[in-house]
Amino acid sequence: MAIDTVCKMTVDENSAQHTSEYKGKTYYFCAPGCKKAFDENPDKFVTELTSEQQ
Ligand SMILES: [Zn+2]
Repeated sequence: MAIDTVCKMTVDENSAQHTSEYKGKTYYFCAPGCKKAFDENPDKFVTELTSEQQ
């Protein structure tokens, strides 16, 4: 399972209908609104995820 970086929900990669590629990584989203938010400001969400993992 992947994590929707926008709302932190888990998303099944195999059935995900909303995905976005950024800097060579694929991100999965639960809804079009989450994908849109990511597409508009991907750095915001990528940075948040990275800082959480460290
Ligand atoms: Zn979402």
